[in-house]
Amino acid sequence: MSSDSDAGSDTAADATSHAFGHATSDATRVVRAGLPEEQPYEPPLPGPVFAAHYHLPGDVADAPYAYGRDANPTWTALEEAIAELESPGGDRVQTTVFASGMGAISAVLLSQARHGRVFVLPDDGYNLLVPMRERLSGLGVEVRTAPTAGDAQLALLDGASLLWIESPSNPGLDVCDIRRLADAAHERGALVAVDNTLATPLGQRPLELGADFSVASGTKALTGHGDVLLGLVSCRDAEAAAAVRQWRKLVGAIPGPMEAWLAHRSLATLDLRTQRQAEGATAVAEALLERGDVVDVRHPGLPGDAAHPTAVRQMRRFGCVVSFTLADREHAERFLGALRLVGQATSFGGVRSTAERRGRWGGDAVPEGFVRLSVGVEDPDDLVADVLRALDAAATG
Ligand SMILES: *Cc1c(COP(=O)(O)O)cnc(C)c1O
Repeated sequence: MSSDSDAGSDTAADATSHAFGHATSDATRVVRAGLPEEQPYEPPLPGPVFAAHYHLPGDVADAPYAYGRDANPTWTALEEAIAELESPGGDRVQTTVFASGMGAISAVLLSQARHGRVFVLPDDGYNLLVPMRERLSGLGVEVRTAPTAGDAQLALLDGASLLWIESPSNPGLDVCDIRRLADAAHERGALVAVDNTLATPLGQRPLELGADFSVASGTKALTGHGDVLLGLVSCRDAEAAAAVRQWRKLVGAIPGPMEAWLAHRSLATLDLRTQRQAEGATAVAEALLERGDVVDVRHPGLPGDAAHPTAVRQMRRFGCVVSFTLADREHAERFLGALRLVGQATSFGGVRSTAERRGRWGGDAVPEGFVRLSVGVEDPDDLVADVLRALDAAATG
């Protein structure tokens, strides 16, 4: 099974040689990304380095590792792996890992914040962007917001210095044309950041679509086992990367070596996991479309979805999240309670399927019966059967 049979596969990688000369497909690239040259009697993936400081005699100017808040070889290996996935064509990309997705998001937004600057954000993105907006306003940033759908942020770009995009958006699963928005922002001298959490670099490569910052929570599909919090920022521009790195050092938002190592270890199965998740998500979404008791089924991979025409142009995989709406809160709770293979939990992107009624948090503008379902790596037929059985149980419950 070739994972790169979908649209827009690795043309950039095919045209250029890179560290793994023959690794022209994601499936091959992920298993070795960021690993050192093989050495006799050394492990393929070196173990986590636990060090607050490194042996450091004499002149410190060129020391790659001096103090544990600044750099760690386990982070370096993971950062090189992610950089390779963000730009397999060989363009020099620098990735900085953080303690969580919010650590990464804050590093970009807060390091760019200055009194009088204008930031354009989505109004339907990750729910912590709402308190973040208040924080930015408090620093004197003018924050403008518009929905992700319909490229509505385009109309707000005059005078902006930063455009923040989240596509697909969480939890609404709307998509915008990243290339179009990035070009318009760059014409006005604005930087562009894309929250790529939902897609992962195998689903979408924001830097190749024009973004200056590709930002993500690695807590979700990237690491995929629900046991690690992690954040990432990748940039092509060395100055932008340096600002992000300095921010990490100043606020100390650093991942532990064990987390970084677990994340790197998990990358080897990223292709397998996201491939199976995408298959399962499509199967579940298609089954939901057949139901009279379910409305507003959203998944960017569905041919009839409003996001699909744009998604097929810029995404290579459509992610593991399916959203839909049941009649009301009680109906949704009965459905969630009747599921057997799908656990009730927040977050998404893990190997085990999970779902939740998003309205229980109160932060997103969604109906009470709105359900966000994250499809894991279980057999798609088993999942569809479980979802349909739970819907039947909820209908009569
Ligand atoms: C979860 C999430 C975040 C925050 O990431 P953490 O690792 O939980 O801090 C940011 N953006 C999106 C789209 C997310 O889903």
